Amino acid sequence: MTKPRVVIVGAGFAGYHAAKTLRRLARDRAEIVLLNTTDYFLYLPLLPEVAAGVVEPTRISVPLAGTLDGVRVVVGEADRVDLQNRWVGYRSAEGDHGQLAYDRLILSVGSVNKLLPIPGVTEYAHGFRGLPEALYLHDHVVRQVELAELTDDPAEQRARTTFVVVGAGYTGTEVAAHGQLFTDRLLAQRPHLKVRPRWMLLDVAPRVLPELDRRMSVTADRVLRRRGVDVRMGTSVGEATPDGVMLTDGEYVPTCSLIWCVGVRPDPFVAELGLRTEKGRLVVDEYLNVPGYPEVFACGDAAAVPDPTRPGQVCAMTAQHAQRQGKLAAHNIAASYGRGARKSYKHHDLGWVVDLGGKDAAANPLHVPLSGLPAKAVTRGYHLLAMPGNRPRVAADWALDAALPRPAVQLGLVPANAVPLESESPELVRRGT
Ligand SMILES: Cc1cc2nc3c(=O)[nH]c(=O)nc-3n(C[C@H](O)[C@H](O)[C@H](O)COP(=O)(O)OP(=O)(O)OC[C@H]3O[C@@H](n4cnc5c(N)ncnc54)[C@H](O)[C@@H]3O)c2cc1C
Repeated sequence: MTKPRVVIVGAGFAGYHAAKTLRRLARDRAEIVLLNTTDYFLYLPLLPEVAAGVVEPTRISVPLAGTLDGVRVVVGEADRVDLQNRWVGYRSAEGDHGQLAYDRLILSVGSVNKLLPIPGVTEYAHGFRGLPEALYLHDHVVRQVELAELTDDPAEQRARTTFVVVGAGYTGTEVAAHGQLFTDRLLAQRPHLKVRPRWMLLDVAPRVLPELDRRMSVTADRVLRRRGVDVRMGTSVGEATPDGVMLTDGEYVPTCSLIWCVGVRPDPFVAELGLRTEKGRLVVDEYLNVPGYPEVFACGDAAAVPDPTRPGQVCAMTAQHAQRQGKLAAHNIAASYGRGARKSYKHHDLGWVVDLGGKDAAANPLHVPLSGLPAKAVTRGYHLLAMPGNRPRVAADWALDAALPRPAVQLGLVPANAVPLESESPELVRRGT
C-alpha cells in the first residue's frame, strides 16, 4: 500500500521544522517530501556575519540531506500549485519540470526583499536577504576599499569608503555594526589608505531597532555611535543615483554602496495562487489551515497567522514564529492522520538577540535587558542552539576570528547582476481549473 504524501514547499525556518516534526510524528503514516530551491536550510540570522567575513558561508547552510532522515528532498522551485487536482509543479536547477501530487500541503516559501517606490533604488541598491547578497556585499566592500587605496582623488576615495545602509531593523543594524568593524580591520591592513571608511545607518523611524524593546535600541544606538557609525534616524533616501544618494533631509551623500535592509515582503509566489491574502501573506486560521482547503496549510513569513497575543493582528515575520508555526502545521497534519489532536497557534515571546560584532550585543532573554559581554554570550548561545546543524563549525569560526587576523579577499563568485533587488516572480503559478 502506498502512503499518502505530505509536500512541504520551502525549507526555511517553517518548512525545515515542519519536516523534522512530521518525520518524528508521522513518518509511518505518510511520505514526507520537502521541495526547496536549495539543498540546504539557510540560517539567516548569521548572514551579516558572513558578509563581514566572520563566518564562512557554508557554516550557515545546513544540508537537508543527512539532517532530515526519512524525508525525501527535492531541489527545485515550485512554479505552480493545482489546488483542485492536488499537485505542485516545479522546475529543477537543470531546468526540467516535475510534479508532486500531495495529500497534504504546507506552503512555507518565506519572503523576499521589500521595495519602496523610491527613484533609483531598484537600479542602484542591493538587498540583503540571502547568501548571494551576503557574498556579493563582502566582495563589494573589499573591492571599494581596495579601489579607494589606489586612487589619488580624495572625492573618489571618500565615496568609495562610504557605505549607506537603509533600514535600522535587526538586519540593517547588524549589517552596519559588523560592517564598520570589518572595514576598520581592512583599514588596519592597508597603510596607504588614509581615510577611515564610514558606515551610515538610516531609517524613517525615530530609533534604531524600532520594532524591539526600547532598552535594546538604547544599547544598539550607543554601540553604533561609539564605533563611529553615522546613525541618522528620521531620515531615508529620497533618490539613488549611480554616484550617490540624496537623503530626505536634502543632503547629498556620494557613495558607491547602497544596502537595502528596509524589510521583507511575502514571496510573490503566494499572491498568485488565487487564495485570499492579507498584505501579500496567505490567510490562514488559528490552526494554520487555508480556509476552504482543509488539506492545505501555510506558515512562516508567507502566512498571515492570527496573533493570539494581539487580537485582530497577525504574527510578525520572525524566525521564532516561523519555526513554531512549522512545528504546529506538522503537528496538525499528524493529527489529521489520527496521531494526536489538532491545536491552535499560541506563543510566548522569548525575547530577542542582536549581534553587534566584536564583544557587543543587545539581548533581552525572557525580557531581561542585557548588553556587553553577557548579551554577547546569550546571543551566541542562542544562535548555536537554534541552528539545526554545523554548530561546532560556527563556534570554530567565531574562535578563529577572535584569535587571528580576518582574511579578506574578493572571490568574485557573485556578480552584481546576479543579485538584483527585485526578484522575479514565478510566471506559471495559477489555481487549478
Ligand atoms: C538577514 C536576516 C536576518 C534575520 N535575523 C533574524 C533574527 O535574528 N531573528 C528572527 O527571529 N528573525 C530573523 N530574520 C527573519 C527570519 O529569518 C524570517 O522571519 C524566517 O526566515 C522566516 O522563515 P520562513 O520559513 O517563513 O522563510 P525562510 O526562512 O525565508 O525560508 C523560505 C524557504 O523557501 C524557499 N523557497 C522560496 N520560494 C520557493 C519556491 N517557489 N519553491 C521552493 N522553495 C522556495 C527558500 O529557498 C527558503 O529556503 C532575519 C532575516 C534576514 C533576511
